Amino acid sequence: MAKNTNQDNNNNNFFNNNPLLAFALFSIVIIMLFKSFVGEGEGLGNMLETNSVTQTKTVKYSDIKAEIAKGDISSVKLTPSTIEAISDVDGRKVRYVAQNVPTYDKELIPLLEEKKITYEGVMGGGFLSELISSLLPILIFFGIWIFLAKKMSKGMGGGILGAGKADKLINSEKPDTKFDDVQGVEEAKDEVKEIVDFLKFPERYMELGAKIPKGLLLVGPPGTGKTLLAKAVAGEASVPFFSVSGSGFIEMFVGVGASRVRDLFAQAKKEAPSIIFIDEIDAIGKSRASGGQMGGNDEREQTLNQLLAEMDGFGTDTPVIVLAATNRPETLDAALLRAGRFDRQVLVDKPDYDGRLAILKVHSKGVKLAQNVNLKIVAKQTAGLAGADLANIINEAALLAGRFNKKEIEQADLLEAIERSFVGLEKKNRKISDVEKRIVAYHESGHALMAELSKGATRVTKVSIVPRGLGALGYTLHLPEDEERFLKQKYELMAEIDVLLAGRAAEEVFIGEISTGAGNDLDRATAILKDMITVFGMTDIAGLMVLKRSQNSFLGGGAISTEYSEKMAEDIDTYIRSTLNERFHFVKQTLRDYAQAIENMVGVLLDVEVIEGKKVREIIDAYETENNLPTRLAHTEKIAKAAAKAKEEAEAEQ
Ligand code: ADP
Ligand code: MG
Ligand code: ZN
Repeated sequence: MAKNTNQDNNNNNFFNNNPLLAFALFSIVIIMLFKSFVGEGEGLGNMLETNSVTQTKTVKYSDIKAEIAKGDISSVKLTPSTIEAISDVDGRKVRYVAQNVPTYDKELIPLLEEKKITYEGVMGGGFLSELISSLLPILIFFGIWIFLAKKMSKGMGGGILGAGKADKLINSEKPDTKFDDVQGVEEAKDEVKEIVDFLKFPERYMELGAKIPKGLLLVGPPGTGKTLLAKAVAGEASVPFFSVSGSGFIEMFVGVGASRVRDLFAQAKKEAPSIIFIDEIDAIGKSRASGGQMGGNDEREQTLNQLLAEMDGFGTDTPVIVLAATNRPETLDAALLRAGRFDRQVLVDKPDYDGRLAILKVHSKGVKLAQNVNLKIVAKQTAGLAGADLANIINEAALLAGRFNKKEIEQADLLEAIERSFVGLEKKNRKISDVEKRIVAYHESGHALMAELSKGATRVTKVSIVPRGLGALGYTLHLPEDEERFLKQKYELMAEIDVLLAGRAAEEVFIGEISTGAGNDLDRATAILKDMITVFGMTDIAGLMVLKRSQNSFLGGGAISTEYSEKMAEDIDTYIRSTLNERFHFVKQTLRDYAQAIENMVGVLLDVEVIEGKKVREIIDAYETENNLPTRLAHTEKIAKAAAKAKEEAEAEQ
């Protein structure tokens, strides 16, 4: 790349780009020259006198004092560090100058008085040095200002004083990434394979007159391998890969982004066949209709227009493919998605079980795994994670193994790494009080018990009262044992709600006082119920009518409500409140039935802080055997009965 030449250029053009700095340096040089010509310690006043002075002698202070004593001196000028004496003998004026005068000489003034010599004190070194000393701070200030401005504009790639050059923001490389490095996104790989072939043998396609898409939009949640896939396309075709991030285009200065787009396309065309990759294209391609942010809007529009013009500007005879990535396709301007631009979208979604296993295999190639490692279990326990998270788990496990001086990564390291990625880092140094600990122990035991008893709830992997991450004082980990689920039945959602309510229920039943610890649980329980009514048509409230349409659910959000009546809104609120109440009653009753099991769990938790799921089940089993209760597997019936009873109770209360 032309990186080096650009640097040199920068130096040569430094003064052209910085007229002010040039001026400042020039003035300093002139002043210096002037100063050394006139001589140190000379004042402007003396310069005027030089006409009548025939000779100037630089002498020692003691010599001047001797001359004064002799009575030959007619006038004296004093500055804080110099003395200048004019002798006037027979009309021949001689000037004596002494530097570094000892200022503590108390005899001088009385001596001058005695000899009746006119003397005057001059502050500083006279007019010229005063000029310098008053100008210097200003010059320094300007120097610093220009320096900073220069630096700033470099950081932003152009700007105040320099024209923007895109070289530094456009990355050019020839990646050796291959399709085998990208796993779990098989459909997406199939879709881009055609492009690889086109880039490898462009003539074939051009002769046939085949139309190959110019632009292709990779859409999917963060960390799923969009960038990786784009690189793999370049790697497989062995063509240059020009990448740039959308946010890098947007500058404070109008026009810079557009010129950068021009540069990007010029470079890519010069080295065709090639690939252009625009990451985070939503930063430039945001819908113009949605605009409205202060500033930057003009700039974004210009950049976007330039991008559109460039994409329209080359035909299928130029083997350049533009790939772009976004995780917010719904925000993109419609113009970007029109035919001949990014008219094809490829979904790069989160991996399923097989995909996760394949990704784990790719990333464990570079590390040492112990014999006991079973990646299948790791893949099973990481449902919902993206490729980047999985790569991170392998790395985290390697760090853990390294910390304990192990030669290989063991299964335990991987499992610990999974937990960390789910619940954030363990905060060993965070102390919680014994009171808090007790509350958390009952709260979490409640969740755990309910999760084990409810048919349809995910079984408990681990219960802990060691605080982790932000805000979480304790946690009950439920990891799906089987493949991740795409469908949930109604009874499973209800079980989830019961488990969520059990934390608060345990506090109320066993401590007799409630805490703020359940806030998040209640929020989630409410949300599930609301979705059951408004999205999934699972209740009588709205029947099958959908009141909320979900958009892009794979990107985890963006549900929009459709219009519904105030009466309906009221009904929804009433239903949610009464259902939560009803379930809460039922959960409390179940906890009371299993009080001793809860106490046993809390005992262990307060002791060792962590219980594995297996131990939880042992405690419950032991309790059930002791009390001749039906075993957990037959428990569903009991729960159904208890639910009916709880409902009666709730109704009686109202
Ligand atoms: P995105 O661009 O979608 O946000 P990246 O491509 O930047 O995600 O992924 C970051 C890293 O995570 C990759 O460099 C790779 O190490 C890992 N990774 C992500 N997805 C995959 C995948 N599908 N297969 C293998 N590794 C992946
Ligand atoms: Mg990326
Ligand atoms: Zn909770």
